[in-house]
Amino acid sequence: MNSKGEGKERSGLKRSTPLRRTGFVRRGAGFRRRQALGSQAVSQTPLQPAPPPDEAPPPSAGLTGECDRDPTGGGATSTLEASVDIRKLTAAQAQRVYSRSEVFAVLREVFGLDEFRPGQPEVLRSLLGREPTIAVLPTGAGKSLCYQLPALLFEGTSIVISPLIALMRDQVRALEERGIPAASLDSNQSWEERQAAEEAFASGRLKLLYVSPERLSAPRFLELVNRVSVPFVAVDEAHCVMRWGHDFRPAYMEIPPFLETVRPPFLAAFTATATPELREELGAALNMPQPSVFVRGFHRPNLHLATERMDSDPARLKRLVELVRERPGSAPALVYGGTRKGCEAAAKALFEAGLSADYYHAGCTPEERSRAQERFIRDEVDALVATNAFGMGIDKPDIRLLVHLHLPKSFEDYYQEFGRAGRDGQQSQAILLWRRADYRTNDYLISQWNGEGAVDQDVIEGGKRRLHRIYEAMGSRVCIWQRVLQYFGDPKAEALGEDCASCSRCTEPRTPAQELTGDQLVIAQTVLYGAEELDGRFGRKKVAATLRGSRAQGVPTWPECHGGLGNVALVVIEELIQNLLDAGHLILEGSEYPLLNLTPRGRQALDGAEPVAVLWPQAASTTGKARSKKSRGRSRGPGAGNSNGASGARPTDSGPTDSGPSDAKPGDVRPEDAELEDALRGWRRRTAGSLAMPAYMVLTDRSLEAVVDSRPGSAEELLAIHGIGPSKLEKHGAELLRLVGEFA
Ligand SMILES: [Zn+2]
Repeated sequence: MNSKGEGKERSGLKRSTPLRRTGFVRRGAGFRRRQALGSQAVSQTPLQPAPPPDEAPPPSAGLTGECDRDPTGGGATSTLEASVDIRKLTAAQAQRVYSRSEVFAVLREVFGLDEFRPGQPEVLRSLLGREPTIAVLPTGAGKSLCYQLPALLFEGTSIVISPLIALMRDQVRALEERGIPAASLDSNQSWEERQAAEEAFASGRLKLLYVSPERLSAPRFLELVNRVSVPFVAVDEAHCVMRWGHDFRPAYMEIPPFLETVRPPFLAAFTATATPELREELGAALNMPQPSVFVRGFHRPNLHLATERMDSDPARLKRLVELVRERPGSAPALVYGGTRKGCEAAAKALFEAGLSADYYHAGCTPEERSRAQERFIRDEVDALVATNAFGMGIDKPDIRLLVHLHLPKSFEDYYQEFGRAGRDGQQSQAILLWRRADYRTNDYLISQWNGEGAVDQDVIEGGKRRLHRIYEAMGSRVCIWQRVLQYFGDPKAEALGEDCASCSRCTEPRTPAQELTGDQLVIAQTVLYGAEELDGRFGRKKVAATLRGSRAQGVPTWPECHGGLGNVALVVIEELIQNLLDAGHLILEGSEYPLLNLTPRGRQALDGAEPVAVLWPQAASTTGKARSKKSRGRSRGPGAGNSNGASGARPTDSGPTDSGPSDAKPGDVRPEDAELEDALRGWRRRTAGSLAMPAYMVLTDRSLEAVVDSRPGSAEELLAIHGIGPSKLEKHGAELLRLVGEFA
């Protein structure tokens, strides 16, 4: 965020000199003290000096370092051995240094592994050097080993603060199986369990103690901590400390005062998702002076990302059934269904198609949830449809198909969720089936956050900004991985360029951009003209609404371009704006509320000095198809779906051309949504008033928005809308259809 912070991060990165050069060994006379492993725990498992000699290159290619570091720091000399270590040793003579063979011995003997995963060595080196460390390691990168391994080497009991009781218990069980004394303290324990854990901790026998953040302020716990030697504290899922974050955990606010009280020698914070801004704020929030920051590359080439834009919810479910049925491997598909209702509907659709599926959300009983989880883990179902309540702490390595049935609220959610596929490194797919309407649903859900507790307006604004970022990216045709990496500030984003080989936009044949002529050119130029006239003062939606001729609130009616594309469907205008953005004729400026403007190239195209070579909107042909189906047998000349809309640059020009947007029937051409929505809300308010009942009982927001979105033209179509049953249809159906007809 500020240059100072960036410098801090960079200096941290610089320290992550590849292990191949420096190893864990502090070379030089007297620096290395060969000692028996001090820890009682580890000494239970006899550790031989490891076969790979210190001087030999380590066995893993990963050790060359996959974490980002200052690109200028890759020179031939290592500053680490010379300066940093001497300073450290003189400052703290008592601190011992660990040789690479000691480290590899623990890796092999305790964890049964021969090599590190990419990104781990740098983080380990920082921790073993007792540096305050922030590690951003994507899900599946082997985060826990990064704090467990140093904890085994250090004297004393290291503390891990984790938000997830289930995860803590799993880790404790796994450590115990490896012969490592570990325990957890959490609120779900019986009195006896807690007593036993506290005793073990007080005796100094434990190597690792997992605590939930809620325990940190308990006087009893603080008293114990002061009696035990704690070499370091690791905070897992550290981003939960950020008040504005979507994963904010109020108990995480206990962490800074706790650290202040116990003053551990150093702190390590781990998170799977952190934008550059967040990394900086994280250090500040946890009072970490000058942390070393490590960012493991976010690209996972074994995960193929795909997005498919769907026209309706039924279409989305139909596609889901196909995907689940044809999924590779034997593991169930993991499906993120958005809302609880969405999950249940998707599970039902799968079931009706002859597939077995469970759903999992916060509304299920604990028994239902654990049964669904068990069946999923044991491959007993074809799919599990879950809300984001499912996943943290699930470490199923072989999920081959992950489907998002809705647009995630942020890249953080998207990444965290699709990251659960292919953890074993095998080829896996993550497919996002999204609708433009998802944006509105999410926007509404975010605006309701303050109903769930005291949430600042800033938090809601932040949530909406993040939603906007992912929505923009999904509408674009640029490489999905590139957009993801750009978002997380991963410098590899640019290198991925236009061919990541692991996303649908790079691997599927692209429709080449075409040089527009005739009516299409007129329409495109009208869009460019609108952008020029509005001159970077409005966002893309407002520009589209202006061109379409909307009179909704906030849409400027003064410009000459107002209504210039009155006969072209709004979806077509919006998609064309996107395509013109992708082609570099338009640009969005400003990151918070991006404003649409013309680029120099766009100006050339507007002046006719350069051809307009863009993809013609798919929506144009979709609306065309829909129409031709309805107006059965109507003949369509070659390219009619494309070269149409045509004269639509002026509303009055719409002649009798056989062309999509301009002559489409009411159901096909969607006028400004906001107008219909306003009218529906007004009607709902009046109806609720006259019936003396709350508005949502007349029609929920979701149903209302579905009406706007799907524009039902008949009783049957109304009945297909979520929340509208026979009784609602009888009471309000006629009014709803009348209103929809009025704004068609
Ligand atoms: Zn790509």
